[in-house]
Amino acid sequence: MTDLRGGQTLRDEVREFLHQELQAGHFVPTCNSWMDGHDPIFSHKLGVRGWIGMTWPRAYGGADRTAAERFIVIEELLAAGAPVAAHWFADRQVGPQLVRLGTEDQKRRYLPAIAAGACYFAIGMSEPNAGSDLSAIGTSASRTAGGWIVSGQKVWTSHAHLSHYMLTLCRRSRRSSDRHAGMSQLIIDLKAKGVDIRPIGSIDGASHFAEVLLDDVFVPDKDLLGEPGRGWDQVTAELAFERSGPERFLSVMPLVQAISAQLTDEELGHVFARLSAVRQLCLYVAGRLQAGEAPAIDAALVKALGTRLEQGLVEDLTSRSLLERAPLEQQAAVRSLARQARLAAPGFSLRGGTTEILNEIVGKALTG
Ligand SMILES: Cc1cc2nc3c(=O)[nH]c(=O)nc-3n(C[C@H](O)[C@H](O)[C@H](O)COP(=O)(O)OP(=O)(O)OC[C@H]3O[C@@H](n4cnc5c(N)ncnc54)[C@H](O)[C@@H]3O)c2cc1C
Repeated sequence: MTDLRGGQTLRDEVREFLHQELQAGHFVPTCNSWMDGHDPIFSHKLGVRGWIGMTWPRAYGGADRTAAERFIVIEELLAAGAPVAAHWFADRQVGPQLVRLGTEDQKRRYLPAIAAGACYFAIGMSEPNAGSDLSAIGTSASRTAGGWIVSGQKVWTSHAHLSHYMLTLCRRSRRSSDRHAGMSQLIIDLKAKGVDIRPIGSIDGASHFAEVLLDDVFVPDKDLLGEPGRGWDQVTAELAFERSGPERFLSVMPLVQAISAQLTDEELGHVFARLSAVRQLCLYVAGRLQAGEAPAIDAALVKALGTRLEQGLVEDLTSRSLLERAPLEQQAAVRSLARQARLAAPGFSLRGGTTEILNEIVGKALTG
């Protein structure tokens, strides 16, 4: 899926929409907008245009469009720093999981609402003692009449306090010698009895993620995703969607654009060359995902390289001497973007898997 040329009309359409939204003052471009820009009204507007769940079947609220077309829309939204965080996880990974593994009932209950930009999901994988080593999760799901009783603790759950549901990785049985056995994925209603969500403050003063305490939460059978006991395989496939998108190299694009006029041709060429290389890899993985594959290794590579690129860009583009080169009337906006990028950058190499772990995944694959 390396050829996006046929999509110029769509690209122009998205640019025109973004231009109008900016002119109307409906959003201010920010760095890291896919994590920090939570705006349900904006998400709803994208839903009306068919730009959420774009590749899903029309029967479930999708638009039956190609992965290339989705790529174009996502690229433009991220490059503009548009507030897309509210629906991000549901669009990027929960929806595709539901399309692949969901029951007919689940597809009809969740997908149209997600595609309309009205239903938001959080991802409940990490726990206090299970981050890099996800197989160490302790959140338990035990059988009861008509469903499951879930107890445990999730942490770093992005937007849990702003979402309707959490796709939750649980352990169905006690840990055995096979660390990956006995896990399941459940859709938990974040308004259910026994759910306690505690937002965690970030260095920028806002709360982007939360701790989620689950105390004997009842989850009906109809909200089991996929097969009981196959949670590990399912999550591994999901991570390919999580790690490989353009957000892994475009988080600080609004800063790059704001400062680009101050760069020499050589500096600009250096930035462009690095961005182009990761983008090509990203497009390659998107093509494989469209073909129904789960390219976990390549996705890990996109995330590891993208993160390194993004953190490098923040280092290179936020020096005081460079920021001071911006015209006086642009100083406030440029400094604000630089500040956002600086504060968010340490998290780039943690979220979605740390660089050390991703390098290990790629290294193991290369060495067999
Ligand atoms: C902004 C942000 C948003 C997040 N959102 C979510 C979310 O929505 N849902 C969710 O489930 N999780 C989320 N996370 C959690 C994220 O997935 C974890 O932070 C990540 O997996 C690392 O786990 P940890 O924080 O427990 O660190 P640890 O696993 O404790 O790692 C600490 C350090 O040790 C290193 N390390 C650990 N094991 C090894 C090893 N075997 N070899 C070499 N080095 C190693 C790591 O690379 C890291 O540098 C988010 C995190 C951030 C920062």
